[in-house]
Amino acid sequence: MLSDKEICYCIEVMGEMYPDAKCELEYASTFQLLCAVILSAQTTDKAVNKVTPALFKAYPNAQSMAEGSIASIENFIKKIGLNRNKAKFLKKCAIHLVELYQGEVPSNEKLLKKLPGVGQKTANVVLSVGFGIPAIAVDTHVERVSKRLGFVPKDATVSQVENKLKEALPRSLWSIAHHRLIFFGRYHCTARSPYCGSCPLKPLCQYDRKNS
Ligand code: SF4
Repeated sequence: MLSDKEICYCIEVMGEMYPDAKCELEYASTFQLLCAVILSAQTTDKAVNKVTPALFKAYPNAQSMAEGSIASIENFIKKIGLNRNKAKFLKKCAIHLVELYQGEVPSNEKLLKKLPGVGQKTANVVLSVGFGIPAIAVDTHVERVSKRLGFVPKDATVSQVENKLKEALPRSLWSIAHHRLIFFGRYHCTARSPYCGSCPLKPLCQYDRKNS
């Protein structure tokens, strides 16, 4: 496994490769960010960005989304996966926000995780991107890259990946590290064909293609 110092180095190199790494979801408010992150489960940010302009035009805030029918919400998001469940989550989540928080999104991890459709990853993205609170959301890219490079063992759970990154990196780097890891995983260390031949992290990487 890599040392904490080596993990910091990897994140630094990823920063040089992707100096503009940031959240690629499009939104105009924390509520819309929350919806976009819920919608991004098991699909790409690009796919989400294609459906959200019309969805957010019809339902720009929690109050309007809470009053929308599930069928109508589903219709706006039908081009992305799991649309039926996601439509239910969006409506329930909006109702919850209206009933408990006057339609505002809470900036607290525990309260966020009580919202329908919101797990650890979604809560972390909202905290970090929406409120500027240091957090590391572990999505498929962060998990894959962390395991290939050897930040954590191959059988580590998502929360072990999150804890390792938090332990190795200074708090001030948590949020940007999340974006760098995502960009690195999305555009370089891709799931099917990682660019190992041109990878600046190859000397440290513990990825064994034949046994992975
Ligand atoms: S060497 Fe290959 S597997 Fe390792 S980090 Fe680079 S691209 Fe990913």
